[in-house]
Amino acid sequence: MHFNWIYPELKQILICSALQSGRVSKTFNNHIVQQPLVTLSARFQAELKKGLSAESNAAAAVKMLPTHVCSTPDGSEKGQFLALDLGGSKFKVLQVKVRECVGIKKGDVEMEEKIYPVPDELLTGRATELFDHVSESLKDFMHEKNISLEKKHPLAFTFSFPCDQSRLDQGTLLNWSKNYKARGLQGKDVVQALREAVERTEGLDVEILAMVNDTVATMMTCGFDDSYCEVGIICVLCVFMCMGTGTNACYMEELRHIDLVEGDEGRMCVNTEWGSFGDDGALKDFLTEFDREVDAASSNPGKQIFEKMVSGMHLGELVRLVVLKMAKLGKLFDGRVSDALRTKGKITTADVAAMDENGLKNTKDVLDELDLNPSDDDCIAVQHVSTIVSFRSSNLVAAGLAAILTRIRQNRNMGALRITVGVDGTVYKTHPYPKRLHKVVRRLLPECQVRFVLSESGSSKGAALVAAVAQRLTSLRRQVSETLSLFRLKEEQLQLVKARMRSGLDAGLRSKSSSTIKMLPSFVYLTPDGTERGKYLALDLGGTNFRALLVRFKKQTSRLYHKIYTIPLEIMQGTGEELFDHLAQCVCDFLDYMGLKNTRLPAGFTFSFPCEQSAIDTGTLVAWTKGFKATDSEGHDVVSMLREAIKRRNDIDLDIVALINDTVGTMMSCAHEDQRCEIGMIAGTGTNLCYMEELKNIEKIEQRMCINTEWGGLGDDGCLDDIITLYDTEVDQNSINQGKQRFEKMTSGMYLGEVVRQVLLDLTRRGLLFKGHVSETLKTPGIFETKYLSQIESDRLALLQVRSILQQLGLHGTCHDSIIVKHVCLVVSRRAAQLCGAGMAAVVDKIRENRGLDHLDIAVGVDGSLYKLHPHFSQVLKETVRVMAPQCDVTFQPSEEGSGKGAALIAAVARRKRDV
Ligand code: ADP
Ligand code: MG
Repeated sequence: MHFNWIYPELKQILICSALQSGRVSKTFNNHIVQQPLVTLSARFQAELKKGLSAESNAAAAVKMLPTHVCSTPDGSEKGQFLALDLGGSKFKVLQVKVRECVGIKKGDVEMEEKIYPVPDELLTGRATELFDHVSESLKDFMHEKNISLEKKHPLAFTFSFPCDQSRLDQGTLLNWSKNYKARGLQGKDVVQALREAVERTEGLDVEILAMVNDTVATMMTCGFDDSYCEVGIICVLCVFMCMGTGTNACYMEELRHIDLVEGDEGRMCVNTEWGSFGDDGALKDFLTEFDREVDAASSNPGKQIFEKMVSGMHLGELVRLVVLKMAKLGKLFDGRVSDALRTKGKITTADVAAMDENGLKNTKDVLDELDLNPSDDDCIAVQHVSTIVSFRSSNLVAAGLAAILTRIRQNRNMGALRITVGVDGTVYKTHPYPKRLHKVVRRLLPECQVRFVLSESGSSKGAALVAAVAQRLTSLRRQVSETLSLFRLKEEQLQLVKARMRSGLDAGLRSKSSSTIKMLPSFVYLTPDGTERGKYLALDLGGTNFRALLVRFKKQTSRLYHKIYTIPLEIMQGTGEELFDHLAQCVCDFLDYMGLKNTRLPAGFTFSFPCEQSAIDTGTLVAWTKGFKATDSEGHDVVSMLREAIKRRNDIDLDIVALINDTVGTMMSCAHEDQRCEIGMIAGTGTNLCYMEELKNIEKIEQRMCINTEWGGLGDDGCLDDIITLYDTEVDQNSINQGKQRFEKMTSGMYLGEVVRQVLLDLTRRGLLFKGHVSETLKTPGIFETKYLSQIESDRLALLQVRSILQQLGLHGTCHDSIIVKHVCLVVSRRAAQLCGAGMAAVVDKIRENRGLDHLDIAVGVDGSLYKLHPHFSQVLKETVRVMAPQCDVTFQPSEEGSGKGAALIAAVARRKRDV
């Protein structure tokens, strides 16, 4: 029928208009009309990427401006703010009160606003005059609303022009747009210009906290009202403003993708300035002759191509040009063309909306107004033209939005995305437009659940919210950082720790009773010489489990077989007899398993607790540490206790030839490979260190004996009180050995997670984390194991993964919370490594001085999960030693099976000596 004649002329527009209603659409099937939108959306995505990357940003048409807005409101914002909104269709001054109550919901923001006219001459005059007018209007508003002029009021500035922002309260104007063209501001800091204007205005005192674009402001408003946003799913937003305001969109992008801004954690809102999509020709094949004509007749030809296809300012013109062409071709109005129809601007966007919405009556009125005297068929045809143009606009916007949503979905690695899009602008508010837009977005992204929220006075309210969030975050950051600074040790403090460690070592050597560092002789004099041969059993009671090993030495090589047995808590903290019976049971099982039940193997017993030894094969337990507290053991010889337990069983036999601390075992095992190794260190459940000390003053043949320092006891006399935080004290109070092992409790695997948990608890109680909600999980001791520190601090992990680790632990928070948790972990583990480094520096300097050397070259055998598995511990440790002991070259060697193989080596050495 009569639409066939429209078709050839409108073909190009139709292609991207994806008509779904009206008679015209029946000539297309959905596949054909949707494909161009998919193509367009893909181009859009490529463009977003281009704008974000440092290399291609300069050449990118879509500028992707960082806004330095990093967080959407969490509902806990409070206070009173002033806001200025410049650059929309009207200049407004507002007062926004965010209510002082917990759990802000919709409606808890009160606003008062006043519109001030901006005289035309100011739009094109000097920028200082424009800003003086802004500032005077603000003063007038404050006066009218009885806002005291004495107090310094926080103010937010919505400034809807493209700005290059390096901070929230700083931004350089890139170029004016719309009908603004004031001189002397382009390339200058807009906030500074406003500040200067405020200073020029007598009796006005405000603090400009934030400058934002209207899209950003609208997003913030939507984030404030929408519950999905409150749980951290962030809003995207598009703004289509009528009245020459154009189109734009912003969304929360991962900071690590924004090359132009430092930092890679968290998100920042990016102002896409998507209206300039196509300025580099990316839309060439989508442009029609009508678009080219609109562009050519505009004040900025070649610029804002996408905007000219979709925004309110140009829809009327597009319709006019199509109708004009049709008329000229004789296909409308019997070929009559009126002067009005030839005049630019005679069909407005409001006309388009009216024709699109209410059909023929409105169309006839519009055409009559243009002196066209239309027939019924003319009206039907023109109405369809208008529908098609409006359809194309919503479809193009849908394609752009789909690109952004797809990007967000990929960023977050999510299959299905639930997201809210805040929208503002007159075009959007016209009747059929939103419905079409939603439908096409849903069609393009069937896997996303997209909710559209119409923002009411979003751009002004949002600015105040940005200021409120900025204020909240500044205060939050300051408080968190003050808390964490307790863990940041200065070099002077580390020097003090080193000095204290040194005097502890010296005091312990002089007399055990008066020192917190016990300096226990190990009766290990020799490091292995490589001649060890044969089969040995090693029994290793560490902090968490018991291991039985069979070690076979052959020429230069050794082979190991082992089995791990857990030690139930009730046995760790039961009676000594039960504990040793359990160990004997494990040994029996192992021998059985190895088919060695009927042999009498020489065995080394690695017992990682402080023992006072009088010979290599006897040792009295001084005190339990870590999680152990079995009764009737302290003060007893642990070798005898094990022998008796074995005797009680009467089914196996062992020749226990050596009692070994795990540090000593670790040193021995590394010394087997590297003769320079004269220190053993553990950073696992607990922390400890041994080293070869001189026996100058003792009448012995051997020159040196390995001393088990038990350095974890440093600070038990209060010497570390100046660096011990309230969180360490809390951890100590909740431990089974209060007041003991203070150094260990700041540095080792059993406690670091607890220290972190205590900090998190405190931050939460103070409302700085998890929205102040102290969950049962967080209150549970031990929930935050040290291995989670390793996971959370891993550099390879994105913030979202950190968040999901926390969620698995039952700690539900926002990305912001995750950042804070990660920082807590970082400072706690860093301090641990630094303290160990300071201690190590004391030891190596002591050894160096013992030997009267200017320079010492030495190796340290190290064992323990904290050292081996934590992503930064070993690095920080080494770095600290390097700085704190500049006269020593310390090589760290992770020990392989340290306590097992070392124990077997010591057993071999001990037997050799005994047998000699
Ligand atoms: P032990 O010291 O008992 O002989 P380990 O050296 O294996 O045993 O240390 C165990 C300790 O290491 C535990 O306290 C645990 O919290 C901690 N830990 C376990 N896995 C990790 C990890 N991935 N990162 C840091 N610490 C860990
Ligand atoms: Mg161990």
